[in-house]
Formats: sequence, C-alpha cells, structure tokens
Amino acid sequence: MTFNETPPTARALLPLLGRAGEPAAEAGVDFPGELAPTADPALIERAAAAKAALGDRVFVLGHHYQRDEVIALTDVTGDSFKLAQQAAARPEAEHIVFCGVHFMAEAADLLTAPNQHVVLPDPTAGCAMADMADAGQARAAWDTLVGAGVAAATVPVTYINSSAAIKGFTGEHGGTVCTSSNAERALSWALAKGEKVLFLPDQHLGRNTALRQLGMSPDDCVVYDPNQPGGGLSARQLRAATIILWRGHCAVHARFTAGAVAEARALIPGVRVLVHPECGYDVVSAADDVGSTEFIVKTLADAPAGSAWAVGTELSLVRRLARQHPDKRIVFLGGTIAYCATMSQIDMPALTRALEQLAAGRAIDPVTVDPAVVPHARAALDQMLALP
Ligand code: SF4
Repeated sequence: MTFNETPPTARALLPLLGRAGEPAAEAGVDFPGELAPTADPALIERAAAAKAALGDRVFVLGHHYQRDEVIALTDVTGDSFKLAQQAAARPEAEHIVFCGVHFMAEAADLLTAPNQHVVLPDPTAGCAMADMADAGQARAAWDTLVGAGVAAATVPVTYINSSAAIKGFTGEHGGTVCTSSNAERALSWALAKGEKVLFLPDQHLGRNTALRQLGMSPDDCVVYDPNQPGGGLSARQLRAATIILWRGHCAVHARFTAGAVAEARALIPGVRVLVHPECGYDVVSAADDVGSTEFIVKTLADAPAGSAWAVGTELSLVRRLARQHPDKRIVFLGGTIAYCATMSQIDMPALTRALEQLAAGRAIDPVTVDPAVVPHARAALDQMLALP
C-alpha cells in the first residue's frame, strides 16, 4: 500500500484518505485524492509569453511544495526564508510573484523595498498552521503570562510560518523569528536572554528542538491552547515550564506516523527515513535524518546512487525529487495523502491570470503588511539574522 504508490486515480486513493477528520492525530484536513490537472498547454504558453514580456520587471518565486507546472515557470525555488531573501536580492524586479502561501508573501513584503510589489496569484492561499495563531490570541496569551507572573522572564520565538502580525507580536516582546534550520540557535539565544520561551505556532518544531537538540525532557514543556481559557494551563504549570508551546501544527506533516516509519524499514532493506521537523516527536525520533525542506532537497541530491529513502514531507516535493533522482529509490513515507491543499491553490489559471494582468499594466492588489506591524516584525526578523 505505502511504498509502491497506488496508481494515481481518485478511486484507488480514496480508501487511504481517511475522509473523517482525525483530531487526535491533528490530521484534520481531508483531501480528495489527486490534485486537479491544471497543466493545460495553452495556459503554460500564455503564462510564459506574459512572463517574457515583463522581462526583468518580474521575478517569480516558487516554494518547493508547488505543482510541477508552476515550478517550471519560476525563476527560483526554495523554502519560505530562502525565497524571501531571493526577493530582497532582486531590487530591479518591480513585481515579485510569489507562488506560495500568504505568510510567505508577507515575509517577502517585509524584506523587499517599498517600490517592489509582492503578488500572490491566489490571495486566498493561506497556511493552516499560520492561521492557528492570530495576534489577538497572542496578546491574550501574554496577558495570561503576566497574570502568572512569568511574562518578564519569557522570550517569544515564532516560526517563520506565521503571520506578520505574530512576527510583530514577537518583535514587540523582544523575541525572534526562527526557521526549521535555526530553531536550536533561536531557542538557545532566547533561553540565554530569559528563563522561558513562548514558541509559536508549531508545537512540534518547538518540542522536537527542545527535546532532541537541547536535551530537555517532556516535563519541561507545556502546551498552551489558545482556544481554552488561560490556555488550559494553571499559573503553577506556567511557572514550572521552560518551553510554552503554542497548540498549532501543520496538518500535512502531522499525517506521518511512527508506524509508517516501521513499515518502511520492514519493506525496504537499508532504507533511510528522512522527515521534516514539523512531524510529531514520535516520528522524528524514529527517523534517521530530520531537517528543513532545503535540508531534505540537499540530502537527497548528495545521497549515493542506489541508496533508498522514505521521505516524510509534502507529496508534490517527494514525487518531484523521485523523478529528479532516478538513480536512487525515493518513496513517500506513509499511507495517507499529504498534499498542502492551500499551496495547490496556486495553479496555472491563477498564475497565468496574474502574469497577464501585470504584462497588460493592470494593477493587482499586492500583499502588504500593516505599517503598524512592520517595525516590530522587521525587528524579529533582524534578530533572527543576528542569531549567534
Ligand atoms: S505544508 Fe503545512 S506549514 Fe507548509 S504551508 Fe502547507 S499547511 Fe502551512
């Protein structure tokens, strides 16, 4: 079932999908099988012609989880932070077309010059994880920490997969942004500055970093639930904890299980299991290698011919990597579909429409960050760049 993939028909895949939500596993997003095909050759030609007409005035960025036909039209691919940096390094590009999700476009807007417009081809493409923490909830959480007498000793650390408003909250309270590559350095810096960390919004990245890289125990962590009064925690629990994890997660990476890791090992002799740190602690503990999307891409590029890999990250990327490295056996870890549904909203119709409108000189509303949030959000991003 798992490691020689089921033929890609919706009917064949449906039994694997788990139609009902799985709140206990945090895998509450249903997906109806294969992505709808959007690779109409006419659209690809039209998008390519509009992009050519725009020339250096446009720079198209594509996150690794995008569809293949979208990736083929991008100038650069990468994870969210690499893409924001790439956008900032192209000051001549008047239009930054960001094939990703909303928080990524916001980060690009924070890092690019005021005359550069960041366009998200589908402005409704959000991120379920980023949406699990809003600024009002974060302010309420801070009030709870004040009430428990621990706010002055707490430094917020927010994963880059968060809204600009949450980055602003973090900067306002002296904290830092982190990526999945530098979370250990961010937590170490924060714990040198204070006694506790409030980690938003991905509890798994926070827990995995604290336990696996900083040697903490599960008892050092508590989970703050923004949907419960007081986060569902007592003042005593907050005072005893070192890491206060926000109850957020990525529904794509939460789908992987330790059972799938065991199954991969049983079915594929010599397989190495490679997963993203947004997976649960039991999954990353059972894996051989854990790292960011960029780390996964590089690890598989550098792997010797003939090696076998079971990879726990977004399915579009795993399939592309398998095609790019036919000399290695690269399979998807797990029996449930793990597309990022919101990333897949950036399809050829959306990208073609955006490029053609820009080429025709018609304005598209850019993604912009509230000016009141910008200074604090930039401060949190600058602090990340300055991490020791
Ligand atoms: S894969 Fe997860 S964290 Fe990444 S954009 Fe999709 S929902 Fe958000």
